[in-house]
Amino acid sequence: MNVCFKLLTFITILLTCAISLASPNAKHNIKVALTIDDLPLKENITTKVVNVLKKHHLPPTWGMLNAKKVQNNPKLLKELKIWIASENKLGNHTFSHLDLAKVSSSEFIEDINKNEPVLKKFMGNQNYKIMRYPYLSYGNTKHKYKEVQKYLKQNDYQTAFVTMDFFDSEWSPAFKRCKIANNKTSINWLENSYLNQANNAIVIARELSHQLFNRDIKYILLLHLKNISPNLLDKLLHQYENHGVQFITLESALKDLVYKLNPHIYRKRAYTLLNRIRLSRGLNNPNIVKKLYASLPENKLKNICRRD
Ligand SMILES: [Zn+2]
Repeated sequence: MNVCFKLLTFITILLTCAISLASPNAKHNIKVALTIDDLPLKENITTKVVNVLKKHHLPPTWGMLNAKKVQNNPKLLKELKIWIASENKLGNHTFSHLDLAKVSSSEFIEDINKNEPVLKKFMGNQNYKIMRYPYLSYGNTKHKYKEVQKYLKQNDYQTAFVTMDFFDSEWSPAFKRCKIANNKTSINWLENSYLNQANNAIVIARELSHQLFNRDIKYILLLHLKNISPNLLDKLLHQYENHGVQFITLESALKDLVYKLNPHIYRKRAYTLLNRIRLSRGLNNPNIVKKLYASLPENKLKNICRRD
């Protein structure tokens, strides 16, 4: 009886191991580099954000700078000081957040350059040459795409392509409206749907990664923290840790060979690098990915807490 029971337990353990190895949804180490776009953050928020990052022991985190915001409001220099003093980094997101689908490659390159003095001022001797294209817009023509990539290569820039994204900025105007209206029920709904979509982003990225490469790549997650409370960031990081995410540096993520791939996709928007690669191979989204994209509550986000 006892031997039988032990044997059963052993078989159960073996089966559990086999299942968790086979399933792409199994809870294990998913390596993710967190990046935050559109720095500086709003006034008086950076201290709270860096404290949340510290609480979760995140490695130095890259924030992608638009120095025009500082030119318009010099008080924001303080936010950048706090960001850097906490050993985080700043990369290039163009001076004025240009959309390469709407401007010429030379205008875009000029705007990359224009961002550099503030990057140099804060990064000092450290490397700041990591580029994040605004709107993940890489150029709607082959010419633009090539011209900008050529410039970046010649100037030792690496591109921080995004491979995990849940369109978090869709929540920003909704949070702003509901906070002004002090509508707690709606804020609660927004927080839950935000966290839910954040989890879906892991599933989507992993499904695509397994579809295209049969493995988990090192993911690069994009967040904006506009109107998102530091408390919600705290919840998001907890949730990701519980999901098996281990946060790594952007530099380490960029060593994954996937970021050397150059899919020839020229269009207004191409979203994540995984989507660009999928499109370049002529593949459809896996069904679960289609389902999760369709579950994005776009209409409710547009209308929630509107007075009219
Ligand atoms: Zn941006």
